[in-house]
Amino acid sequence: MQTHVLGFPRFGVNRELKKALEGYWIGAIPAQELIATCELLKKRHWQVQKDAGLSLVATGDFSLYDHMLDTTALLGAVPERFEQSASGIDLDLYFKMARGDAKNNVAAMEMTKWFNTNYHYIVPEFTPSLRLSLSSKTIIEDTKKAIELGYKPKPALVGPITYLSLAKDLDGANRWERLEEITAIYATVLSELGSLCEWIQIDEPILCADMSPEAQAGFAATYAALNKAAGKAKLLLTTYFERLDENLNLALASGCAGLHLDLVRGKDALEGVLERLPQTMTLSVGLVDGRNIWKTDLAQALETLRMVASRIGLDRLMVGSACSLLHAPVDLAYEKKLAPELKSWMAFAVQKCREITVLGDVLTGKGCAAELKENAIAMTSRRASPKTKREDVRKRSAGVTPQMLQRKSAYPVRKQAQAWLDLPLFPTTTIGSFPQTSEIRNARQQFRKGEMTAETYEDFLKNEIRKTIKIQEDLGLDVLVHGEAERNDMVEYFGQQLDGFCFTENGWVQSYGSRCVKPPVIYGDVARRIPMTVGWITYAQSLTKKPMKGMLTGPVTILCWSFVRDDMHRSEVCKQIGLAIRDEVVDLEKSGIRIIQIDEAALSEGMPIRQADAAAYLRWAVDAFRLTSSGVEDKTQIHSHMCYSEFNKIIRSIAEMDADVISIEASRSKMELLEAFQQFDYPNEIGPGVYDIHSPRVPSESEILRLLQNALLHITKERLWVNPDCGLKTRAWPETLASLTNMVAATQTLRKLHGAC
Ligand code: GLN
Ligand code: ZN
Repeated sequence: MQTHVLGFPRFGVNRELKKALEGYWIGAIPAQELIATCELLKKRHWQVQKDAGLSLVATGDFSLYDHMLDTTALLGAVPERFEQSASGIDLDLYFKMARGDAKNNVAAMEMTKWFNTNYHYIVPEFTPSLRLSLSSKTIIEDTKKAIELGYKPKPALVGPITYLSLAKDLDGANRWERLEEITAIYATVLSELGSLCEWIQIDEPILCADMSPEAQAGFAATYAALNKAAGKAKLLLTTYFERLDENLNLALASGCAGLHLDLVRGKDALEGVLERLPQTMTLSVGLVDGRNIWKTDLAQALETLRMVASRIGLDRLMVGSACSLLHAPVDLAYEKKLAPELKSWMAFAVQKCREITVLGDVLTGKGCAAELKENAIAMTSRRASPKTKREDVRKRSAGVTPQMLQRKSAYPVRKQAQAWLDLPLFPTTTIGSFPQTSEIRNARQQFRKGEMTAETYEDFLKNEIRKTIKIQEDLGLDVLVHGEAERNDMVEYFGQQLDGFCFTENGWVQSYGSRCVKPPVIYGDVARRIPMTVGWITYAQSLTKKPMKGMLTGPVTILCWSFVRDDMHRSEVCKQIGLAIRDEVVDLEKSGIRIIQIDEAALSEGMPIRQADAAAYLRWAVDAFRLTSSGVEDKTQIHSHMCYSEFNKIIRSIAEMDADVISIEASRSKMELLEAFQQFDYPNEIGPGVYDIHSPRVPSESEILRLLQNALLHITKERLWVNPDCGLKTRAWPETLASLTNMVAATQTLRKLHGAC
């Protein structure tokens, strides 16, 4: 019986890859040094898997930037706007596709979320004239290297059906017409790999999603060709992130020697698979969560394994991670500051490899009794620990009534009650943060290291707030913000002040390219100790007569950007966070704050993979927002901010959030999102972002005016707000001042045009 992981994190425990990549991009290190770092990391990670006792090691899972981009390189699917040299796809071309070519003004390929994870991949582009040819043999070379070094590799590729499903058509192309051509390139690669190894992993997570008719139609023939090409090597068709459901037939009839299931996220589908698994097919059961930091309950996993073994026999069984470990941090051993009890409940990638081996060994009677016992102790400790349970929190959460999800009056009544805010037509505001200068970051660093006293740091931040308010008053903005200088991150800032959260030192996971995030860990019931933002916001309000907007992160966003406990449904955790933030909202109101913004930047990130599951998610997510925002009087104005433009699908749910005002990203899509309003009239007020904060470019007054006039074709003038797309923390002051000056000027012109000045 074989044991394996679907992939290992790429970055290295000290984020060596990030440093090498960024060093190479700024020209600080030569290409050879970057390559050397990659080689070192690959070998180290193979050794980790071998040391853990896994029978196979993953190859082809490493990437300089992204595995979808690697597949683009393999197929030579380089968009025509990038100049290709005779030598094929070199490092520079590869990075230009990912990051654009500023010198020649060539835009990067688009990037988007990998299923419902926080990992982002580079979207393949198909035009009618795109030429394809095998252009990268990295996976073959790596697999050979692994063999030379004495490992038993299992190369992993993104399957052609998933690749094409996640690509986009441009200039009238139909990418599915290229499937046969692509399959032929895969076949060449598989026949080479097939002579090198026993198993080849081919990832088709699209089988766990709503597959397009083209994808479904092309599947069987593609896999017939691929299985033939692989020769005596066996293809392991890997599926993950969900259950197969309606696509199970395709997988079972694929002719592949093995099928991998994610039993962390699709456990209840196991029986249905066992009933129909062809006699010749091996089943790889993914029992170790690749997307979280918790230890696997080995006793429970063994129960499942034993059941499967009794049905299909040990010979046809493999044990693995549920999905790639790409989404988990590297090594728990480097965590020195975590409370020992909490640490004893956790497993990062290195530890997860060992869990898989232990499962395999126990099942085949090779012992591991001590580790099994240790795991059982950790599980019991976690279940029984008072750290994870707070009776008061549970009672309060159970006592949430429908009235608590409801503002006192409907929006039209609230609108009148909010007249006291005395806002002009087309009120101007910003999304919350102002530039996080190096001065601010240095002060925070010094304070953290104990080199600056709490008093000095507080004075420093107050001074920042004073400066920010003066600037906003001079600009003539209508609703002001304090600038968020005290926050380095919109989730971490709240997590650090809430019960039930803890933080790792090195728990980094790749978000995209060289970017990593270090999500907080929610291990216990969430509760607020004391007000978290009231001091800063009331200080800011004391400096101005204009309304100060209190700034909070919403429960869904805090949930989506954390590692969440796996012993409670996400909706329940979200509700607890909602109650904690609700208290903050009420306290802000009590302290005289008249406008409160609750950011739900991640609402769409939490969306399930399948459309059929969307409604249930949106129901509890919207309810959590309503719970957070409904404790205030009618005269208090609630705002929310969301940073995405693919808005059409969820516009009804956004309306159900019932915020008085929402601000959303819109300028990059030239206000296309407003077309959503053609079918559905957004009932409350809305500020479609009028300029893109992701770029230093300063929008002109006339450009902003045009966007606003376009918006007015869809939104009545009483409902339109004026604001940038998102927070300004990544921008520098000069472009911020210039852009906001133009934004205010455009608004004044618009007011004149409407006779309101
Ligand atoms: N209030 C936050 C800010 O301005 C919102 C950030 C976000 O939407 N990602 O920074
Ligand atoms: Zn945003």
